[in-house]
Amino acid sequence: MSTVNHHSPNVFASFDPPGQQAALTSLCSELFDQQRSTWRKMAEGVASLESVRTREIICNGFSVHLQFNPKRIASTGADVDPAVIRRRPCFLCPESLPEEQQGILYRSEYYILCNPLPIFHRHFTISSVHHVPQDFESSVDVMLDLARDLGPEYSVFYNGPQSGASAPDHLHFQSSPRLAIPVERDAVDVRRRKRFYYKNHVAGFTLMDYGRTVVIIESSDNRRLAAYIGRLLAGWKEHLRLAEEPMMNVLCSYQENIWRLILFPRRKHRPDVYFKDGDARILISPATVDMGGLIVTPLEKDFLRVQTKLVEDIFVEVSEGRELVDQILENIE
Ligand SMILES: [Zn+2]
Repeated sequence: MSTVNHHSPNVFASFDPPGQQAALTSLCSELFDQQRSTWRKMAEGVASLESVRTREIICNGFSVHLQFNPKRIASTGADVDPAVIRRRPCFLCPESLPEEQQGILYRSEYYILCNPLPIFHRHFTISSVHHVPQDFESSVDVMLDLARDLGPEYSVFYNGPQSGASAPDHLHFQSSPRLAIPVERDAVDVRRRKRFYYKNHVAGFTLMDYGRTVVIIESSDNRRLAAYIGRLLAGWKEHLRLAEEPMMNVLCSYQENIWRLILFPRRKHRPDVYFKDGDARILISPATVDMGGLIVTPLEKDFLRVQTKLVEDIFVEVSEGRELVDQILENIE
């Protein structure tokens, strides 16, 4: 039985190894060019990136980039209250996608779609063909496959249902050009890396002096890597006595036969300053990209006034504590 129904977006191409002819990286380039020439909203979104302003903020031990991007208001301001989510039509379901939108059908289970409100020049959303909730444990294998199939030009990221995903009810990943997110460079900085695990071809590191808690897992063996992640999630849930998935953002890349997974354990979805009234409110809603050091501010007044202390405070406020995470990591076999 086919999972593709008549509401599906126009299938630009299918990627289904083995026997796959074209590389996924080049299919994505072709999709991007096609969509930019036929879909006005997406072309405008990409063009708007040329006038986006950025600003570097130097913090204690690290730096971040702010990106003033007015088009991101829908995502930063997304209401993810379960009651609201239940009432709204799901914008990732195939039948709600714009008519102009085309996608690459990936391994018959996901559509790779161009993001019409991008943070990066090439910014894709990889969305399940099914309306099922965000769930990392059951989809980590897909994330590793995607990172490998997309090749070294791209990274793949996942936002937990309460950690920045604007569609927590519909399983999806996003992809960005590799190294576009600052943590990708910092994660290989030997002066920052502290190894906590090295066994059976899986290595684990934390980052020192980074202002937020980061866990890096690397392996050349995707099965062992996924199994480690399974044990990590189980230990983490047990430690916090959680029934649901722990809060997190994850960024994954693959190059030179190594998968690198950069994980940000979270304890809070949005900082208090997000909920303040009037002028005191600052619209920053941290997800993977922001936790990775590229903070999106859809409002100009925030872009201009955000300073070192606020960035440092937000990272501490929304990150899971380092000591607690160390305790969890110590107990993973
Ligand atoms: Zn949906």
